[in-house]
Amino acid sequence: MDCKYCRIAANQYPAHILYEDENVVAFLVENPVSKGHSVVVPREHAERYTEIQNVSGFARGLKNFLLLMEEYICPDLHIVVNPGRKGGQNNLHFQMHIIPQYEGEKIFEWTWHQLTEDEVEEITRKVKNKSKD
Ligand SMILES: [Zn+2]
Repeated sequence: MDCKYCRIAANQYPAHILYEDENVVAFLVENPVSKGHSVVVPREHAERYTEIQNVSGFARGLKNFLLLMEEYICPDLHIVVNPGRKGGQNNLHFQMHIIPQYEGEKIFEWTWHQLTEDEVEEITRKVKNKSKD
């Protein structure tokens, strides 16, 4: 498999690495939405968070990187995961975007919806009862 993030994790592809340990690599993105925008990826290839084998190792590395970002770059950080190709992810290796939120910068514009009672009931029933119908 030719995965750019696996190659970065193996130091076989150039990246501006900000943090790395045995479980994660964090590096600047090429086209940031704000100064310091970076991604944290697991060293192991996983397309989704639920596929990561060493979740505690990933979480520990993520926390270490967030502590550095909060202390030295910006205390207010968006933490964003784009879900697969539908969410705009080009490289299907799980990636958590860390996006500094500076004063006055508008980064995200959310579209809010109002759920109906039926939608609330449907979603709650599916998750709590582990039902697809
Ligand atoms: Zn990969």
